[in-house]
Amino acid sequence: MQFPQKHSATGTTIFTVMSALAQQHNAINLSQGFPDFHIDERLSDALGAAAADGFNQYAPMAGVPMLKQAIATSFKNRYDTDIDPDTEITITPGATYAIYTAFTAILSPGDEVIVLEPAYDSYIPNIEMNGAKAVIVPLTAPGFGVDWQRVSDAITPRTKAIIINTPHNPTGAIWSKRDWEQLADIVRDTDITILADEVYEQLVFDGERHYSVLENEELRARSFALYSFGKVYNNTGWKMGFCIAPPEYTQAFRRIHQFLCFTVNTPAQYALAQHLTLDTTPIHTIMQGKRDHFLSLLKGTLFTIHEPAKGSYFQIAGYERISNLPDKEFATWLTREHGVATIPVSAFYSNGKDDKLIRFCFAKKEETLTEAVNRLMKIALPI
Ligand code: PMP
Ligand code: GLN
Repeated sequence: MQFPQKHSATGTTIFTVMSALAQQHNAINLSQGFPDFHIDERLSDALGAAAADGFNQYAPMAGVPMLKQAIATSFKNRYDTDIDPDTEITITPGATYAIYTAFTAILSPGDEVIVLEPAYDSYIPNIEMNGAKAVIVPLTAPGFGVDWQRVSDAITPRTKAIIINTPHNPTGAIWSKRDWEQLADIVRDTDITILADEVYEQLVFDGERHYSVLENEELRARSFALYSFGKVYNNTGWKMGFCIAPPEYTQAFRRIHQFLCFTVNTPAQYALAQHLTLDTTPIHTIMQGKRDHFLSLLKGTLFTIHEPAKGSYFQIAGYERISNLPDKEFATWLTREHGVATIPVSAFYSNGKDDKLIRFCFAKKEETLTEAVNRLMKIALPI
């Protein structure tokens, strides 16, 4: 059987590869982004209670009303933005699915989508699976800010969308209000749709804040904003997320969603709806503590940190004082020889560009981070 080549990515996603390598070598897994600590007991209890109480059949196609309302209230409180839960919010099985669905709702063969690289690894395959083409604009080390002239130069009559990710995986960079304004200037006289991947919206540190596309009225009118509960409540394995978009965009999104997944895990929706109304410690406070703990320990190693991650739960580090191996080889060596798994940043570039950087995930118990850095401290000599 000849299977069609739906996209250009070869092999298995780096997150699966590195997590498997970590397991094989019994390494501490700071590669794939997921917390290694328990979720809030009230949330796991609520999931069990929802199942026990009989919320086990199909939920409404767009999501459980109580959850959509809780999301609207949360965004009103945090961004002072009015969102209609009925016409603007759709619950999804995670953000990866929401991104794919949004692309499928708008793309036709031959369309182009601007992708800022390094980029999360599902974007380009998702674009290509819809017969469209990714047009790459690089973000440049060390700050990974946007070169607006290059974005503007990349626009053609075929440009259908631009996908944005802030806070940014893998670099931890965050967009300012001004970045959104510059994007608005560039797309003003076009029909370009914005996909705003804001899964780390609640993970911004040092007293800074996340600026959402939803706060820029002009952009909001042409955007799909995509979110993941996994990054907020430490339950990445639940695969629960949502899409916020204006009514016309939401209708297009649901036209695909109803035949792709139809509806999302019912007890999880009830549990999350209830949890959203509770007082919880802000996740950025917890993660900033972990980032600071990790970075202060890392000072005793040969890794170099250009700047602390401003957001997300990832920290980029250089290893030029240790090795000049390509980053994939270095990450493999580090896992095998020193028992710490990371992600090579070249995996976020379609052309495999190698800045000799690796990504650590610090969403881990303090003892996990301490043990990992103890291992990293033993790397004394260049290889
Ligand atoms: N976008 C980015 C930038 C991510 O890091 C992740 C994490 N997996 C996702 C989307 C997908 O989130 P989910 O697990 O909800 O599919
Ligand atoms: N978002 C997480 C990461 O970047 C997990 C991604 C995945 O496993 N597909 O590591």
